[in-house]
Amino acid sequence: MAAPTVEKVQEIREVTRIERIGAHSHIRGLGLDDALDARNVSQGMVGQTEARRAAGVILEMIKEGKIAGRAVLIAGHPGTGKTAIAMGMAQALGTDTPFTSIAGSEIFSLEMSKTEALTQAFRKSIGVRIKEETEIIEGEVVEIQIDRPATGTGAKVGKLTLKTTEMETIYDLGQKMIESLTKEKVQAGDIITIDKATGKITKLGRSFTRARDYDAMGAQTKFVQCPEGELQKRKEVVHTVTLHEIDVINSRTQGFLALFSGDTGEIKGEVREQINSKVAEWREEGKAEIVPGVLFIDEVHMLDIECFSFLNRALESDMAPILIMATNRGITRIRGTQYQSPHGIPIDLLDRLLIISTTPYQEKEIKQILTIRCEEEDVEMSDEALIVLTRIGMETSLRYAIQLITTANLVSRKRKGTEVDVDDIKRVYSLFLDESRSTQFLKEYQQEFMFNELGVDASAMETS
Ligand code: ATP
Repeated sequence: MAAPTVEKVQEIREVTRIERIGAHSHIRGLGLDDALDARNVSQGMVGQTEARRAAGVILEMIKEGKIAGRAVLIAGHPGTGKTAIAMGMAQALGTDTPFTSIAGSEIFSLEMSKTEALTQAFRKSIGVRIKEETEIIEGEVVEIQIDRPATGTGAKVGKLTLKTTEMETIYDLGQKMIESLTKEKVQAGDIITIDKATGKITKLGRSFTRARDYDAMGAQTKFVQCPEGELQKRKEVVHTVTLHEIDVINSRTQGFLALFSGDTGEIKGEVREQINSKVAEWREEGKAEIVPGVLFIDEVHMLDIECFSFLNRALESDMAPILIMATNRGITRIRGTQYQSPHGIPIDLLDRLLIISTTPYQEKEIKQILTIRCEEEDVEMSDEALIVLTRIGMETSLRYAIQLITTANLVSRKRKGTEVDVDDIKRVYSLFLDESRSTQFLKEYQQEFMFNELGVDASAMETS
């Protein structure tokens, strides 16, 4: 792959990394110590220590990069931090390990088949670390070590210094060097020149041993102390791109501009096969290595039986990422079938999962999470207001309480207050209903709504 293309991909990734304050932006990692024990409050994470510790063990497996195709399920009540834990893992892995996050429902699209959407998600989660040689900048002096060929001792026996007058990669020069050196049977101490246009090497003679001697011969002159051998590149740049990015760049129907819009459409199977064999070639030549990343599928119960069967199969590939799924469902119907199963996931897939469960929060933990969110959103809140908000969080949901932070802050600012106080919380609590008050409202005023069906099948309604 040519260097400029890869650089463009890097740029795109940089741009999309700019973030606003989101639901999980306070999460900076899993908050574990060196022994992988979870610190009670650390890196934006609070409590949920068992689950975080389990996630830490998985993280170690991922970092070692030796295993592929493991799958993990994070299961627990709504708002117990399942997504937060997955985001913590992503943060801890850093930007060099691909982490793709999708919601189960995202794969149902009219533009592409379910399996194509899943394949793309899988390939977005596999990194290819490509080693490339840097370009030599005009006039820059670089040194290249020349080793003995593989049959020799491998010790460094000499060095080549060259000064370039045009853009050319060390690798290209090195290749030309090796070809010509073997053809010309250049010996230690020989002085040679390389014609940049043709790459042809001409022997000039022997006995120049000092740097200033070759300098005197101008930019095209090279000094060689070693007869033949392999070039060791002094400067090496490593890019990590995903298999999906390589697919898109090489897909004739799309072209790499599709990476900007994300509108990549379906990618032909033959393109993927070509990419797979090219990457396998690079791996053998030591030019690239595979970095298995993470594919996170939130709300995994939204997938249907065909998708689950695809996952079962895809996990068997040696290029599979680590699959992390999350669900808040109990025993429910597997979509696309009449059968029920735990979390709506078929038993054969469940059987190969490592399952991490999350538990509901105590009051103290809710308070700490709310405090962290206030800091994240730059909101000053009085102690009493925080106590009231915590109580609301316990009685309604953590998510609802988190939502009230920004709204209460707006109300406080409107009255030119310096911090959010109890009245501001009360005001937004009455302005915005939580789920159970909204349900209550519906029950009371159902007759006023259109298409009201409560009388028909009230038992099928999902309420907390
Ligand atoms: P659901 O099942 O509804 O998808 P969830 O278990 O994925 O819920 P999250 O979205 O992770 O829940 O949590 C709700 C909010 O609370 C998020 O803003 C999340 O960052 C925050 N949160 C949850 N648990 C923690 C925690 N242990 N530490 C810090 N923040 C947390």
